[in-house]
Amino acid sequence: MSDSTFKAPLVLAVDDDVVTLQLAKDMLTDEGFEVITAVDGDSALRLFNQASAESRPFDVVLLDVEMPGLDGYQVCERIRDLPNGRIIPIIMISGREDLEAAKRAYTVGATDFSSKPTNWLVLAQRLNYALRASAAFNELKRNQQRLADAQSATKLRYWEYDIEARRLYFLTPTGSLDALQKGQPQTIEALIELTHPADRSALEAFARTLTTRVSPISSSVEYRVLDNKGGEPSRVLLAQGRVDFSNQVYGSAPKKIIGVIQDITDIRHNEERIQRLAHYDELTGLHNRDSFKEKLEVALELNKAPQSKLAVFHLDLDNFKRINASFGHHIGDKVICSLVERLSNRLRLSELTEQGFGPRSTARFGGDEFMLMLTCDKEDPKLYASRVAEQIKEGLSTAFYIPVDEMAGSKKNLEIFVSTSIGIAIYPDDGQDALSLLKNADTALHNAKSSGKNQHQFYNNAMSATGKARLDFETELRQAIEQNQLELYYQPQVLASSAELVGVEALVRWNHPERGLVSPAEFIPLAEESGLILPMSDWIMNEACRQTKAWCNSDLKPFMVSINLSGMQFRQSGFRQSVQKIFQQTGVNPDFIGLELTESVIMGDPENTIATLHSLKELGVKLSIDDFGTGYSSLSYLQKFPLDTLKIDRSFIMDIGEDNDNTAITEAIIAMGHSLGLQIIAEGVETQTQLDFLRERSCEVIQGFFFSKPLPASE
Ligand code: C2E
Ligand code: CA
Ligand code: CA
Repeated sequence: MSDSTFKAPLVLAVDDDVVTLQLAKDMLTDEGFEVITAVDGDSALRLFNQASAESRPFDVVLLDVEMPGLDGYQVCERIRDLPNGRIIPIIMISGREDLEAAKRAYTVGATDFSSKPTNWLVLAQRLNYALRASAAFNELKRNQQRLADAQSATKLRYWEYDIEARRLYFLTPTGSLDALQKGQPQTIEALIELTHPADRSALEAFARTLTTRVSPISSSVEYRVLDNKGGEPSRVLLAQGRVDFSNQVYGSAPKKIIGVIQDITDIRHNEERIQRLAHYDELTGLHNRDSFKEKLEVALELNKAPQSKLAVFHLDLDNFKRINASFGHHIGDKVICSLVERLSNRLRLSELTEQGFGPRSTARFGGDEFMLMLTCDKEDPKLYASRVAEQIKEGLSTAFYIPVDEMAGSKKNLEIFVSTSIGIAIYPDDGQDALSLLKNADTALHNAKSSGKNQHQFYNNAMSATGKARLDFETELRQAIEQNQLELYYQPQVLASSAELVGVEALVRWNHPERGLVSPAEFIPLAEESGLILPMSDWIMNEACRQTKAWCNSDLKPFMVSINLSGMQFRQSGFRQSVQKIFQQTGVNPDFIGLELTESVIMGDPENTIATLHSLKELGVKLSIDDFGTGYSSLSYLQKFPLDTLKIDRSFIMDIGEDNDNTAITEAIIAMGHSLGLQIIAEGVETQTQLDFLRERSCEVIQGFFFSKPLPASE
């Protein structure tokens, strides 16, 4: 009793006889109870509810049977109906010691029955007994609930198997042992029928082990169940069981097996996913870098025999970043997948193996890089590797047709060409271990790239030096931006009718300290691949705006200045804001600025482009679609873009009068452009014939060497 947390059990004593009540209070208080009294049924129920609400509920009720108003039986029944009254001990005390009263007390739910006159000391002990039983009962309830919670959280169910009856029972959520519902397995045979065929023998062995052994033994089995339609395996279950020797005569055969079954589907799925992510590329299902390296190490280990050779290919798609930049990553991903499919079919991997070539493996290293490992011991490895490289290049020589969703749900195919550069390193000549083979294949790859793409090259020792060349070029380009080696040239655009100057196109040049003037056709692709295009584009935009502002302030008649946008620049977030900032900083009037976007950049992701173009338009600039005719324009989108000008690609102009098809296309483009309300600019006009033709078709503006080459601003 010294325990400060101890609370005296709280008794509700109910009796209409106040003398008895007072006696009960005194006697029970002496015995260590706390007593609250009620003189009739109504006040008893009120007190009971109030105590529950104040969260000091009664622990036991002492209830007189004979009372005016509600009698003890009625009060007992009502308490039992209350949420807190279902399991509280209720002891009924009757003036009559008869069997009927005791029976009735039992039927209305009393815990115990006693008759007057009351021996208070004995009654106090009866209360203690009742309290101990109810505490045990409460604890049992709580444990049952905890167990049920734990089972549902872990997807665990208890089961029993009756060996003699050959019946399987499962613990239901309410705690009783039932055979499974109708139509569900009740025998091991029925259970096995619903099991994935590959797992059936394991489950049978599990059942056999447990039902035939006589020593205490436990066992477990993991198996997949088929769904109800008997089709695909839907869940993975883990059953654990042991022979139950309790309640059994010593030496006799066991009668039942007990165990648990757990649904581990999610656990297994997660494990598989982790496994996959750790070893495979998600997009293509090929190995990833780490797992390829592991495979290579294993293959090298197996290939220690001196005559075994092994080739490591490193592939890098040419200009693939441009496909991503022009059409968006989702199209890029589709191209990658079709390419992998085509190459695996094309290389007919199984057939090569039949010819005596050993283990092979393919992997995807990041975006557009692939690895391939081939072993061969029959043929000269270089010859064999060249043949495979040729097969790869040939496989890529035809276009990929990638379906794209157009507006209004119609489908269209994008025609995309992809080529690849390949670097090859041979074991053991070019490296003894995985790391050096990978490194040297990579060096050979860079060499293949810088010597013109769509090529394969074998590693040689001299390459280690030239592998740096490409890096140097990138470093130089970076410096070119910092050291002001870039310059803008401007090519005049004139009215076809009067040759009056109406605009210029800004075209970037690189004044290389040793190589002289480098063409953008040479360095723009590299700038795009390395990401340098972004700082470079910033510089171009700034410089062009500064120059425009200077021209506006001069005596010259005002004209437009067109600036080329790269796909990466256009797609970068906050592009509009950065343009706006440059306009503000340079103070240029945006009315004199035109922005050129190629057809493929615009059409790559038309839905997003519409919004960006509108936001640019709000700044006041003119927008043109560049290199028109070379890409894949959707007429329905063209109408939606807020464009001002359409530039017919030079390749069509070049053919005017020479190639009937292209001449007809030019004519059609002009007509279509006009019907969309666009101004037409013809690019690359070099001859009088071309000019005459364009004039006749009412093409408004001419740009080309016929009038002028791109010139420095001063000229
Ligand atoms: P583009 O936008 O189609 O530019 C027109 C190209 O055609 C220019 O080549 C120009 O010099 C050339 N050209 C103009 N008239 C004639 C002609 O009558 N005959 C022939 N044979 N060629 C003519 P350039 O300056 O070498 O630029 C090549 C490409 O580089 C451009 O094609 C454009 O895509 C890109 N580029 C140039 N400057 C920039 C720039 O500042 N930013 C970006 N993002 N790209 C640029
Ligand atoms: Ca252009
Ligand atoms: Ca162009």
